[in-house]
This record gives sequence, C-alpha cells and structure tokens, in this order.
Amino acid sequence: MSAEMILAVVALSLILLLLVTVVVLSVQLRRQAHLVHRLMEGLDSVSLQVQTISSVPSVARSLDPAQKVALILNPVKPHAADTRRQVEVTARVAGMPAVMVYETTETDPGTAMAEQALADGATVVLAAGGDGTVRRVAEVLAGTEASLGILPLGTGNLLARNLHLPIADMEQCITIALQGHHRAIDTVSIRLANQDGSVQRTAFTVIAGVGYDAEIMDTTNDTLKQHAGWLAYGEAGMRQLAGKRKEISVSLDGGPLQRYQVRSVMVANCGLLTGGINFVPHAVIDDGLLDVVLLSPRHVVDWLRIAGKTLLKSRRKLPVLESHQATQCKIVLHEPMTSQLDGDASGQVREISARVQPESLRVQVPERPSSSVTQA
Ligand SMILES: [Mg+2]
Repeated sequence: MSAEMILAVVALSLILLLLVTVVVLSVQLRRQAHLVHRLMEGLDSVSLQVQTISSVPSVARSLDPAQKVALILNPVKPHAADTRRQVEVTARVAGMPAVMVYETTETDPGTAMAEQALADGATVVLAAGGDGTVRRVAEVLAGTEASLGILPLGTGNLLARNLHLPIADMEQCITIALQGHHRAIDTVSIRLANQDGSVQRTAFTVIAGVGYDAEIMDTTNDTLKQHAGWLAYGEAGMRQLAGKRKEISVSLDGGPLQRYQVRSVMVANCGLLTGGINFVPHAVIDDGLLDVVLLSPRHVVDWLRIAGKTLLKSRRKLPVLESHQATQCKIVLHEPMTSQLDGDASGQVREISARVQPESLRVQVPERPSSSVTQA
C-alpha cells in the first residue's frame, strides 16, 4: 500500500470517527435537553401549586370543613380552567371534601347542573360564568338552604356588581364564595308570554326589561364584546337609539291597567349596571319591592336628559323617566317587544308578570363592600 493510500484510509477513518462522535453527542444532547425540558415542566407545575397554595388567604384555612361545595362552571369562558384549579386547591387546603364540578353546555347554562348539585348534597354552589349561568343557578337555589357563591367570568357580571364583589380579583371572589358569610336577597319570579303563544316561567335577580334595553342585549356584537367588554353594549345602544315608542299597559299590585307610550320598561330588583352606572338608584336588593321603570323619550334631547340625570345622579324628576315600586306587576304589550333577563335576550314577548320573592336566596358576600366594584 502506497503512502498516499495509507493517508487516505487514515483521513477517511478520522472523518468517520468524527461523524460517529457528532451523532453520538447529538443523541446525548437531545436526551439531556428532553430531560431538562421535563424537569422544567415539573418545576413549573410545582411552582404553580406552591403559588396557588401560598395565595390562599388565611380565611380559607378556617373554612367549615363540613361544607359540601359544588362548582357550576362554564368551561368556554376565559380563565375557566384556572378558576376551577384555584377553587379545588383552596377547598383542599381548607380540608373540605373534594369540590363537585359540573360543566355547563351550550344548551343549558346551568339549570340541570344546579339541580344535580343540590341532589348531590351541595350546601354551597359556586356559579362560575356569565350572568346567564348565575341567573340559572340562582333560580334553582332560590327557596333552598344552599348558598350561592359568584365567580364572575362574564362581561356584565351584574349580580356580582350589585353585591359589591371585587369582580377584578378572582382570588378574593373565591374566598368570599367559600368563607361562609352570607346574606339573603330577593329574587323575582317572572312569567313571559311569548309571541308564539308559549309561556316561560323563570326568575331573575337584577333587571328584566322589554324594549330598548332588550334590543341592546339582543344586538350586541359578540366579537366586539370579547375585545371591548361591556363597552360593546354602548355601541349597540347607539345603533338602537332611534327606535319608536310603543303602547303598553301596566298594572301594579293588582291595580287597574294604566296605558303608557314607552321606549322601554324595566322591572328592577337592583339597579347597578356596567361601568358603575346606577340606573335605578332607589332599587334595593332585599327590600321586598320591585322598581318598575318606564322610559318614554320622544327624541335625542329626551335621551340626553335621561343620560344626564343618571350620570349626574340628579334627583330632579323627568316626565320621560317614571319609576314605581310594587311587590308584583303585570305589563301588557300592545305589540310584541324584545325582552331581556339579567342582560340576556329572552325573545319577543306579549306580556310579562313579575312577583318579588323576598329574601329567597342566600348569597355569599364580602363583609364590607369592595372598592373595586366599578372596575372591569
Ligand atoms: Mg328591590
């Protein structure tokens, strides 16, 4: 073998050796990287658990361990999974039985789930979702000993606002929902006679209405709502502003029917709306009374008067904004109008009858009103 041949074989061997070394090192490095990745994932998980446990306020550690907690969860809401994990960890740290979790569906925002939770022995039922889920769970719990905890995951979060829950702070809301401080509030039974002749019997806790307010709820752009939150209602409100007044008849506490020309009529159990606007300042959530509000603006100037009175909290009476208190009311619509219940559109109706159910619902509340009530 010539010297050139020997050099060529040596060079080839060195190249092959180098290649094998590179391949072996590469495999080793990938294994190491995989192990490091798994280790990091593990550390992340431990860190999240430690973070969640350490963020459980001390009050959670003194919860009544006999409480049986159910969580009715709308799984498609943002932060639903985090909320569920935080509730489960909080209850576990407090030594309570495992939280029973029921997920709502597209066709049932919470009714069957709340009924099942009661059948399973729940003493505290947490509604984690929007106003639709809170209303359905409240309707099922009304008249029972079980208490409603509200974990606001919606856009309006109307009942949470009216109860002065810190809606921007889910951790605090979970503590309030579980800590056992409760109060009794009114609910309102309502019967809606639909345009198609069918009848809905249900309940609400904040405001029901027909006309302008319901048209806003019915036409709010969902995509805008996802991005701009409750400001999307303002955009729909501007679009619906130009509607005509319609004739209705109203009977309060079984009295005679009185005729009105209105753009909107609302039955309020309480009056705080999104953006910190208190639309029905006289409405109190546990006074055993409904506040029936009749809006009859003829043109944009009347709307400006109503907006000014509301925003400036003026006590000046306006002929286009009338309010009456009663324990029950019947509203007959001379032509079908769009309706809403606690901010959710509820179809075209011909007649509604509402009756207050005094102090019929136990709800979990903070001891002192939160200062962040107007946030979010
Ligand atoms: Mg009231």
